[in-house]
Amino acid sequence: MNPLIELRDLGRSFSLGRETVEALKRINLKIQRGEFVALVGASGSGKSTLMNILGCLDAPTAGTYRLAGQDVSALGQDGLAELRRRHFGFVFQRYHLLNSLSAISNVEVPAIYSGVSKSTRQARARRLLTQLGLGDRLHHRPMEMSGGQQQRVSIARALMNGGEIILADEPTGALDSMNGEVVLDLLKTLHAEGHTIIIVTHDMGVARHADRIVEINDGQIVSDRRSAASGAPPLRDLVDVAENVGFLTSFLRRTSEAASIAFRSVAAHRLRSALTLLGIVAGIVSVIAVVGLGEGGQTIVLDQINSLGANSIRIFPGTGWDDRNRRHADSLTRDDAAALTEQSYVNSVSPVTMDSGQLMFESRTADGEIMGVSNAYFDVAHRPITQGNRFTDGGNATLPEAIIDSNTRRTFFGNSRTPIGEILVIKGVPFVIVGAVGEQDGQPQVFIPHFSVFSRISGSQRLREIDVRINGSVDTNVAEKAMIAFLEKRHGTRDFFTYNSDQLRRLLQKTTRTFSMLLVSIGAVALLVGGIGVMNIMLVSITERTNEIGLRMAVGARASDIMLQFLIESLAITIMGSCAGVALAFGLGALAGSIETTIPMVISLHAVSVACIMAVMIGAIFGFFPAKKAAHLKPVEALSRD
Ligand code: ADP
Ligand code: MG
Repeated sequence: MNPLIELRDLGRSFSLGRETVEALKRINLKIQRGEFVALVGASGSGKSTLMNILGCLDAPTAGTYRLAGQDVSALGQDGLAELRRRHFGFVFQRYHLLNSLSAISNVEVPAIYSGVSKSTRQARARRLLTQLGLGDRLHHRPMEMSGGQQQRVSIARALMNGGEIILADEPTGALDSMNGEVVLDLLKTLHAEGHTIIIVTHDMGVARHADRIVEINDGQIVSDRRSAASGAPPLRDLVDVAENVGFLTSFLRRTSEAASIAFRSVAAHRLRSALTLLGIVAGIVSVIAVVGLGEGGQTIVLDQINSLGANSIRIFPGTGWDDRNRRHADSLTRDDAAALTEQSYVNSVSPVTMDSGQLMFESRTADGEIMGVSNAYFDVAHRPITQGNRFTDGGNATLPEAIIDSNTRRTFFGNSRTPIGEILVIKGVPFVIVGAVGEQDGQPQVFIPHFSVFSRISGSQRLREIDVRINGSVDTNVAEKAMIAFLEKRHGTRDFFTYNSDQLRRLLQKTTRTFSMLLVSIGAVALLVGGIGVMNIMLVSITERTNEIGLRMAVGARASDIMLQFLIESLAITIMGSCAGVALAFGLGALAGSIETTIPMVISLHAVSVACIMAVMIGAIFGFFPAKKAAHLKPVEALSRD
């Protein structure tokens, strides 16, 4: 039969800068099932190094190690973790219990990584602790127990997964002689039950309890004495432990365990977690607020753009807005307007004249703006008729007609009386009101056919502008060019200029897009800062818990288990932060809604989901690096880190 443990020419060297320390040199050793072996030697002789290799916590740099016939050096991290889970139970000089957990929870830890269900775990841990005389200490924390009790808890933990081979490195080193005896008696009892026991000690008095003493000096075996034949019975207790569950069940159990560890850790450092959380909250709120404000602003801008009217071009006399003679320029005529109507790309044209003067209804008077337009104006300028009709017969009716804005209507008719059909006197000339439009800021406005202005009011031919609506199928910019060419040819000179709402629309849209991008990046930077906070705290958490990580790995945690534990922790912080952030953003939104602001804050589902997705991504990304760092710690180094 294969020996349980077989080392051949095994070596382990450490490189320290340029120097190499050979801690173990050509070790050859066979250990059979059921033996009780003591590795003895002076301090620094290599006992712990050998023990760590035996326990698959560390790998040799030379030679081979066969465990139950299987070559261990070929295995990767997870393979070694599995061997640790299946075969070994560790007892350390300094116990390595997790201070935040009760005795029973400490004992349960190895079984978590074997995928054993919580109830089975608890029942077994309770039984083991009771057998070891700690039935009344199940829910005590390590700090509340004596050294001897703690070491017994750690022995119970070593037995949790069966503990076929128990590796004890100076198990009595931190105990007084009486408690040391208790622990040694326990190990002897376990040996009698069939466990293979390997202890490391520098104390011959302790070593004498073993059946076989292997002495190590300066990394080499110098003697190997057997004091008693090992005739222990085969181990009974192993069978019920290795619960054969499917990968998925095991994974789900381990994940839920990782989550509960993560939440406990968050809860254990409330202030710290809360401060980190605050960073995420600030990030989330700023993303939502900033996107909300951006969208609110965009709505306003879009409304304004729409009020400009679609596909319209306005033509003004003069050379540009900066033309000082513009107000007196009379280069645009009604004939121009008529000629433009003939162009194929033109849908409709409205000459516009403007005057101001007294409006009178019955005995009341008011100052108003008098616009001379044609029916096309109401389309071009986007001022739909809200009541009544447009000018009858395109403005050629015999009776002079007027359309008033709602400002005029309020001024003269109040809200209840309908103005349609009433006679309004404009600069002394009576007009019958046929329709009404919405108002724009400013004076009361009345609209009359443009030739009425000429024939009845001012006698001036001068047009203030010509508004042209382009056919829907034609590109506004192309039409604008054609129109300029046409008028230039007609006038023989460029004594007019145009204004194209499409350009403005595009410019505004581009500007709002740039603006929202800018806002979103500000929010993203805030979130990023929050994310860096999370990463920072995760790194602190990992540094503080390096020992815990080492212990978890020693009892069989896979790299993925450790990774998951810390990823969930960082995700927990970011997810809690985003929930709080969303709540706060809604609160602020309600507050902003209750006070008058120029830009409304629109909290859209879109903004909320963007923020939350970003937060989760940040939790995953910024948690990933620390979690990976934790998962790649070497068990031995992590365990020995102070
Ligand atoms: P023991 O447990 O017998 O006291 P160790 O196995 O801890 O001895 O150490 C054996 C030798 O290996 C010592 O000289 C020690 O300095 C060296 N050694 C152990 N671990 C490391 C390490 N991680 N890096 C460098 N040298 C080490
Ligand atoms: Mg040692």
